[in-house]
Amino acid sequence: MFNLSTVLEHHARNSPSKEALIFADKRITFSQLDAAANQVANGLKNLGIGHGDKVALTCPNLPYFPMIYFGILKTGATVVPLSVLLKRHEIAYHLQDSDAKAYFCFVGTPEMPMGQEGHAGFEMADSCENFFIITPSPTDASPIVGTKTMGMLMAGQSPTFQSFFTSPDDTAVIIYTSGTTGRPKGAELTHSNLFLNANLSKDLQDLNYNDKTMLVLPLFHIFGQVVCMIASIYRGATAVLVPRFDAEMVLSLLQNEKITHFAGVPTMYWGLLSYPNIEKFDLQAIKSTLRVCLSGGAALPVQVLKDFEAKFEVAILEGYGMSEGSPVVTFNHPDRVRKPGSVGTPVWGVEVCIKDENGNELGANEKGEICYRGHNVMKGYYNRSDATAESIRNGWLHSGDIGIRDEDGYYFIVDRTKDMIIRGGYNVYPREVEEVMIQNPAISMVAVIGIPSDEYGEEIKACVVLKPETTITETELIAWTKERIASYKYPRIIEFMNALPMGASGKILKRELRK
Ligand code: ATP
Ligand code: MG
Repeated sequence: MFNLSTVLEHHARNSPSKEALIFADKRITFSQLDAAANQVANGLKNLGIGHGDKVALTCPNLPYFPMIYFGILKTGATVVPLSVLLKRHEIAYHLQDSDAKAYFCFVGTPEMPMGQEGHAGFEMADSCENFFIITPSPTDASPIVGTKTMGMLMAGQSPTFQSFFTSPDDTAVIIYTSGTTGRPKGAELTHSNLFLNANLSKDLQDLNYNDKTMLVLPLFHIFGQVVCMIASIYRGATAVLVPRFDAEMVLSLLQNEKITHFAGVPTMYWGLLSYPNIEKFDLQAIKSTLRVCLSGGAALPVQVLKDFEAKFEVAILEGYGMSEGSPVVTFNHPDRVRKPGSVGTPVWGVEVCIKDENGNELGANEKGEICYRGHNVMKGYYNRSDATAESIRNGWLHSGDIGIRDEDGYYFIVDRTKDMIIRGGYNVYPREVEEVMIQNPAISMVAVIGIPSDEYGEEIKACVVLKPETTITETELIAWTKERIASYKYPRIIEFMNALPMGASGKILKRELRK
């Protein structure tokens, strides 16, 4: 029927000289982006890559990401985006797990291939030679058959390409979940999954042709990839690429590039709020262009939402999604009443319900597992029929998240099932405790976890990052929290930390804290 890369080809044909991407001082038009993707596609075709093959990609947020991404899609092959933080043996696991036939890898520093130095000194031609395409053998454990640089792959290739006509149910990407609760699983998403989700995402954020979006969420993760990158290209808007979240860099781009749309995970909003030298920037100028902010991927504490909205005078629209849902499931629709703390209502074409452990549907204000069905549900986890059968039952995807629906049909995320603490037989949801603690003026970030306890089974512990130049003792903070929450819920142990461990998509890794 169609190929997802149509969203790019359309603008390359109809507004070729419109800017699609901005990176540092580089401006890349839709026709240049499409031509580069075509060269990649031709290069891959020469290597024998085509419909049904898997091609992995490790690339920070650089123009290469969309060039290669759409180049792979054009051939009818499946993109397997990998986190830029993976170490050698993890990359090997992902290449094998996904049956990748080729692998594009941007080679830079192991921690973050494109740090700030790279940002400043980025040169298209040089970086082309830093990019390696590797063809792993399908069976051998020491996998490299051949390597080429990007430059070699693209050299002499034609800038035109006839995209493979995929079926809507063909797999477009295998996207690995964030690995917040365990080993990442590869969710298989189809061309139609992504097309429909990007389409509704662009409408929900009121994205217009003349808008400028910021791509600072990592593009290998579903949120940045679909809601930001594909939606922006789909709409013909201009996207400003930022390889690594840095509050100062983000603020300067918001100001200088006149960004209209910003999307982030909650830790980014915390970072922007606690940036100490805000007076260096023209906040008035930022406010006058910034129109829409999006949050998702983890719970945005209501206090953070309110503080950010007051400071930047812009609404944060919170949505709920996951890799398995392409990703958007519910959203605070701009044309409906917004309820702070809620993730809004189901998006177009998606049905959501709350179920108990036995699979029975629950009513309003009853706590249970969030389940959904519709055009956004993944095909399954790649090569993991057991995990797929556990996740998709009777056509409903079981999210592993606990939520409630209020009488107006708005959804609220209570917590992840796996993060719930059972202390002395009582269920404690860390998020509820965090929402209370973050209101303490000394606290910048907080994560509440359960730790093993002989007496209660589990004990409640809060890991706290204080704001600069504030002090509060463990005893004071426990007493403060105890006054504001039921006695079985307040933390008995507090650990002050300089930072919280974070995964590549900016989520706090509670399993690391539990260790
Ligand atoms: P893994 O499945 O590998 O443990 P993960 O669940 O973090 O990792 P993602 O697919 O990136 O991988 O994230 C989806 C999850 O993020 C959801 O299941 C939910 O727990 C959480 N989430 C997403 N949006 C929100 C939100 N607005 N509020 C609270 N939690 C959210
Ligand atoms: Mg998950």
